[in-house]
Amino acid sequence: MQIVRVALPVPLAQLFDYTSDDATERDIGRCVRVPFGRGEKSGVIVGLPATTEVEPARLKPVRHVQREVAPLPADWLVLVGFAARYYHAPLGEVIALALPPGLRRADAVSDREADPLLDLTDEGRAALASGRRPSRPLALLRELHAAGVMRRSAARALRCGESVGDALRRGWVAPVNGADPAAAGAGLPELTAEQRAAVDAVTGVPAGFTPWLLHGVTGSGKTEVYLRLAARALEAGRQVLMLVPEIALTPQLESRVAGRFPAANVVSLHSALAEGARSRGFVQALEGRADIVLGTRLSVFAPLPRLGLILVDEEHDASYKQQEGVRYSARDIAIWRARQRGVPVVLGSATPSLESWQHVREGRYRGLRLTARAIATALPVVRRIDTRRMRLDEGLSPALQSAIAARLDRGEQSLVFLNRRGYAPVLSCPSCGWVSQCPHCSANLVVHLADRRLRCHHCGCDNGIPHACPVCGNQDVQPFGRGTQRIEARLAELFPAARVLRVDRDSARTRAQWESLLARIASGDADILVGTQMMAKGHDFPKLTLVGVVGADASLHAADFRAPERLFQQLMQVGGRAGRAHLPGEVLIQTEYPDHPLYRCLVRHDFDAFAAGALDERRQAGFPPFTFQAMLRADAPALDDAMKFLAHAKRLAQDSAPEGLRVFDAVPMRLTRLARRERAQLLVEADARGVLQAFVGGWMRMLRAQRVGRELRWQLDVDPLDV
Ligand code: ADP
Ligand code: ZN
Ligand code: ZN
Repeated sequence: MQIVRVALPVPLAQLFDYTSDDATERDIGRCVRVPFGRGEKSGVIVGLPATTEVEPARLKPVRHVQREVAPLPADWLVLVGFAARYYHAPLGEVIALALPPGLRRADAVSDREADPLLDLTDEGRAALASGRRPSRPLALLRELHAAGVMRRSAARALRCGESVGDALRRGWVAPVNGADPAAAGAGLPELTAEQRAAVDAVTGVPAGFTPWLLHGVTGSGKTEVYLRLAARALEAGRQVLMLVPEIALTPQLESRVAGRFPAANVVSLHSALAEGARSRGFVQALEGRADIVLGTRLSVFAPLPRLGLILVDEEHDASYKQQEGVRYSARDIAIWRARQRGVPVVLGSATPSLESWQHVREGRYRGLRLTARAIATALPVVRRIDTRRMRLDEGLSPALQSAIAARLDRGEQSLVFLNRRGYAPVLSCPSCGWVSQCPHCSANLVVHLADRRLRCHHCGCDNGIPHACPVCGNQDVQPFGRGTQRIEARLAELFPAARVLRVDRDSARTRAQWESLLARIASGDADILVGTQMMAKGHDFPKLTLVGVVGADASLHAADFRAPERLFQQLMQVGGRAGRAHLPGEVLIQTEYPDHPLYRCLVRHDFDAFAAGALDERRQAGFPPFTFQAMLRADAPALDDAMKFLAHAKRLAQDSAPEGLRVFDAVPMRLTRLARRERAQLLVEADARGVLQAFVGGWMRMLRAQRVGRELRWQLDVDPLDV
C-alpha cells in the first residue's frame, strides 16, 4: 500500500494524503480523482511520502489515476510551487488554474485530432501547371507550393483555407511525414539594422538565462524580431512560448506565426478555447509535440519539456495580471520560469512598464532598442488642442471636426478615441441633480442608447431607461458625460455621408463580432471609428491617418499612482495606429492641460523622458518599483465587518512586522460597493521584496487561523496593480 500526496483545488494551504495499490514514482505529476468530503475532487499527485500524519483508518484510496497522458514534469511542479509560495495561494488552487478543465478532472483526453503536414501530390503539381481557371483550391495549391509543406491548421487559416478538404478529396494534397519546424514560409523581409542588432544581441550571448527588454516604437518590427528568435530556437530543436495580452490579438498573430513556420506545430492556449481544444493543446505542449505555444497569461503555465525561448509581447499590459483568485502576473512568472529553465526571455513593448524599465536602468535586464519604424513612415505628428476657451460640440472641438472632414475628403479613416475612465455616460436630472446609480454598487449606471437600457458595468445590473426623473418627475432627464454611443450619434449628424463605426466592448462582445469589425475596418468599409481601449492594441489599419483623443485629462489627476503611466501607454499605443502604411499620421489630443509634462513628452515621442520623470516621482513618493507592496482586501455585506476584519489584520501585522515593513490603515476601496458587497483594503509595503515575502508568509498563517463571519471574504494581492 502506497501513500499518495495530492494537491487539491480547495482554499486550504495543505496537501491531502490517500492510498493506492499500484502508484509508483512514475505517477508523480499525474492527475488523480479522489474522494473528498461527501463527493469527489480531482488534483495532482505531488509526492509519495513514506509516512503520513493521518490515522491509517481515515486514509482513503484514490479512485482513478490518469495514465493515458504523460505526467506533469518535475520542473512544472516546481514552477506552480513557486507561484503558490510567491502569491501565498494554496498549491492546489494554482494547479487548478494552470491545468485545462478536462485534464484537471482527470478525464480521458481525446487527443490527436491529427494536424498533419500537407504537401502537394503529383496530381496537385499537374493541376497547378495546367493553367486551369483561377479557383480557391488552385489558390491553395499555389500557397502550399510557395511554402513547401504546411500544417493543415495553418492551411485552414489561409484566405483560401476552406478548400483544404476539397484539395484533399481531389488528391491534390496529401499528408506527409516530418519536416523541419524552423523551415520558413514565404516572404522573409530583410531586417533593418536595428532589428538585426537586436537579434544578434540575443543570439550572441552564451546560452542560458538572460532577460531582455525590447523597447521598440509601434511599427518598428518587434514581431519580426520575435519571429527570427523563434526560428533560431526551433532550429535548435527547442520549443517557444509566446505570450500576448489579449485573446483578441491571438488570431492575427497566430496566422502570422503559422504562415512563417508552416511546418511547425503552433498551438494556441487561452481561456476562450473549447475545452477539448485547450486540453489537446496543453497535452501537445506537455509531450513536446507543440513547437510554438502562443497564448494569453494562463499559457505561461504550459508544460514545455524542450523550452528554449520565452517571448512576452506588450509586456506592460495590465491583462498579464490576473485580477481574481490567484492574482499572479504572467510576465513576472515568465521571468522566473526563464531563470528556472536557463533560457532567454524577451519582453517587448513600445511603452515598457516602469518596473521593467527600472530593471534595465539597474542592469538586471538588458535593453534592446528599435527607434525607427520598419517601413519607411514617420511617427505620427502629435498635437495638443487647448480646449480651455473653446465651445465643444458633444465633446468634439472645431479643430478635431475639421481634421476629420479633411480625412473624409481624402478617403482616409479617422478614429475618435475615448478614454472611458474619464467619461461615463450616466443619466442625470438637470432640475434635481439625480444620477442613475446602481442599486448594488457604488458605481453609476451607464446609458446604452442603442437598446435603451441602463447597465452597471461592474455587476451587470440591467434596467430600462426611465421616461422621467424618479425623484422629481422631470420629463427631461439627459445623458450626462460622453460615451462612445453619444459621440457616434453626433458624428453621424455632423458627417451624414460618412460611415461611422463604433468599436467597444458592446459592439464586439464575441470574438466573431470583433473579427468581423476588424475585417470591416481593414477593408476600408468605415470612415470614422469611435473606440475605447480595445482600439489601442496591436492592429494595423492602413487607411487610418487621424486619431482624435477625447477625455484624457481625467487620468492626469486620478487617485491611482499608476494612472499617468497607463494614460501615456494608451496614448502612445493608440497614436501608433495612425499612419502605419504609406500615409502620414496625426494625433490630436484635446486637453485643458496642454503644458502638462506627460503631454509634452508625448508630443516628442519621448518615452525616456516620461519614464525618467515618472520614476523620479515614484522614488520620492516611495512607490513601486522602489518599494514592494501587498494588498489585503476584504468584502462583506456591511462595510463595518470588512473594516473590522482589516483592523484586526492590521494589529496582527503590527505585532509581527519586521524592521522596514510599513502597515497602512484599512480604507474602503474607491469602488466600495460592488454587487451588494462592501469592500475595503489594507496595504503593507516594504523596501525589499524579501522582507515583504517573509512577513506576508507568517501573516497569512495567522489570518488563516482566524475565525471570521461566514459572510466575510478576504484575499491577498501581491504586487497589486490597482492601489
Ligand atoms: P511592432 O510589433 O513593433 O509594432 P510589427 O512587427 O507589427 O511592429 O511591424 C510593423 C510592420 O512592419 C508590419 O507590417 C511588418 O510586416 C513590417 N516589417 C517589420 N519588419 C520589417 C522589415 N525588416 N522589412 C519590411 N517590413 C517589415
Ligand atoms: Zn429630478
Ligand atoms: Zn452594479
